Amino acid sequence: MQHLDPDRLVLLALSEETEGPGESGHLNECAVCRHELDALRTVADLGAESEDLRDLPAPPEHIWRRVEDGISGETPAAAPLERSVRTRRTRSRWLTPVLAATAAAILAVAGTVTVDRFVRRAPAETVTARATLAPLPRVPGAAAGSVQVLSDGAMRIDVRNLPLTTGFHEVWLIDPDDPTKMVALGNLPDRPVTVLPVPPGIDMNRYRLVDVSDEPHDGDAAHSGRSLLRGTLTY
Ligand SMILES: [Zn+2]
Repeated sequence: MQHLDPDRLVLLALSEETEGPGESGHLNECAVCRHELDALRTVADLGAESEDLRDLPAPPEHIWRRVEDGISGETPAAAPLERSVRTRRTRSRWLTPVLAATAAAILAVAGTVTVDRFVRRAPAETVTARATLAPLPRVPGAAAGSVQVLSDGAMRIDVRNLPLTTGFHEVWLIDPDDPTKMVALGNLPDRPVTVLPVPPGIDMNRYRLVDVSDEPHDGDAAHSGRSLLRGTLTY
């Protein structure tokens, strides 16, 4: 199904153009476009109510031109021409800064919506293995995490409430049958979710113990021995 053009949804949200029969039909059937139009209308309302309009950036030229066309471009067919033109001019002068700001705000949202649409269309990531990370003894019990191994070989690590460190947190894969065998995957930056590539050729059935350690900045690449979280991958 062909969705409505995002630029067109912007103009519909601004109520500067009315839906054509094909568009109404599509909007009746398509929850995606209806949702986007609703979101754009919400922003349009916010833009119209905002008092700090001049602080917003100017919209790109092509959008602005279409917005202007929407205001003054059509020749009214039925209404008395003169009165209609005067109304439109008055309205145009009054609405111009509002519409400029609104179009800028909507454009930002439209970009997000387009990205969102793209992401929703992307094939779902396949999770090939997962683990729940639990705190080791002497680590605060609120510390926790989870791991997903994705089909493209990356590992997504989600951690929370890790104890503060003067060093850094590092992720390891360990062979539970021989815990001296381990592979460092990388550091965890200070954010909840990190995706780390798993080096090619690693046997994940063997190196199935995921370990998050507290590492000092001591130049020693080996495991510090201070494990914080651990969990075993299951398939
Ligand atoms: Zn649609």
